Amino acid sequence: MRALTWHGTRDVRVESVSDPEIINPRDAIIKVTSTAICGSDLHLYDGVIPGMQSGDVLGHEFMGEVVETGASSTLKKGQRVVVPFTIACGGCFHCAVQQYSACENSNPVEKQDMSATLYGHPMAGLFGYSHLTGGYSGGQAEYVRVPFSDVGPIIIPDHLEDDNVLFLSDILPTGWMAAENADIGPDDTVAVWGCGPVGLFAIQSALVMGAAQVIAIDHYPHRLELARKLGAKIINFRETNVREALMEMSGGIGVDAVIDAVGMEAHGFAIDNMLDVVKQKVGVGADRASALKQALLAVRFGGRVSIPGVYGGMTDKFPLGALMEKGVQLRTGQTHVQKYLGDLLAKIEDGTLDTTFLISHHLPLEDAATGYRNFKEKQDSWTKVVLRPGMEAGAAGASTTRTMEQV
Ligand SMILES: [Zn+2]
Ligand SMILES: [Zn+2]
Repeated sequence: MRALTWHGTRDVRVESVSDPEIINPRDAIIKVTSTAICGSDLHLYDGVIPGMQSGDVLGHEFMGEVVETGASSTLKKGQRVVVPFTIACGGCFHCAVQQYSACENSNPVEKQDMSATLYGHPMAGLFGYSHLTGGYSGGQAEYVRVPFSDVGPIIIPDHLEDDNVLFLSDILPTGWMAAENADIGPDDTVAVWGCGPVGLFAIQSALVMGAAQVIAIDHYPHRLELARKLGAKIINFRETNVREALMEMSGGIGVDAVIDAVGMEAHGFAIDNMLDVVKQKVGVGADRASALKQALLAVRFGGRVSIPGVYGGMTDKFPLGALMEKGVQLRTGQTHVQKYLGDLLAKIEDGTLDTTFLISHHLPLEDAATGYRNFKEKQDSWTKVVLRPGMEAGAAGASTTRTMEQV
């Protein structure tokens, strides 16, 4: 089959690899119909995630058709499913309390050492996201093996298009959980740093949850415009003093809840063993979690801090004093995707949520390397790239690619 493979920093290629096979009775094989490039895939692209091996198949946001099932899979051939990026067994302590992204059985024992050292406990398995998280082949491919297929995938009714539901795989539940972690009430003012896909979905979710006002902070004009269309007020941090603006917009008290949807992308890299390299590059003492620090200073006393943005290691000069003295609550974590799928699918079906506005480009899988490059370098206009294994190479420009004006 054809698949997008990793070969080093900024070197991804579509090439022929072996077809996946059923290994465990609970497996299913999915023929991928749509798969997206995620902001967190750019960390792999930039070579800053440890545990990658040449030839690894990337992709953790995908959906498709069931074409083969193991003896214990509950799926049936021909069903359309969206697959959560978090691999979860359904039976361990954490799965039993719906903390699926902490599953104890999805990351094979021989892969657990690095994350156990970094975090005190091993991470769960994720699709297409390094040998740190199990080394599973991802879904930016024609076919993918889905372990624990009786737990994760959600069956999609035929009347919903791929574009309507694809983001259930990661960024929609991630944005939703980010808003849920901010514990939003009807009188709340909520500030969201970062108008990437997760930030935009967190904004949308916060508004659905009834926030009185949501304030979006970024510097990309088009992304801010998308936030404004969703109903947010916007702050361009290149033009406006964020803290002063937030104080004014919250009646001088500070915002009730803050969401950091930027993560370590703010200044690149945060795995601890690279700390010195980073310091050399950006100057000793430079912020690598500037959005989070700004958020902690902006939140009111007794407010809530939610961090969906991805961090990998340690950070310098964290304003721990602000956290304690202001008595804020902090919630974060990888998304428990399986917990949210049913509810969010229902909200898509009844029109409460529509995520299609985010998609700026559809490309054939064969053009995936172009997709990565532009998603990285043209962040303002390439807001989300959907790859279609079935789409003919070279068809992208003429077919369903939407321009900024059409979004
Ligand atoms: Zn993702
Ligand atoms: Zn589990």
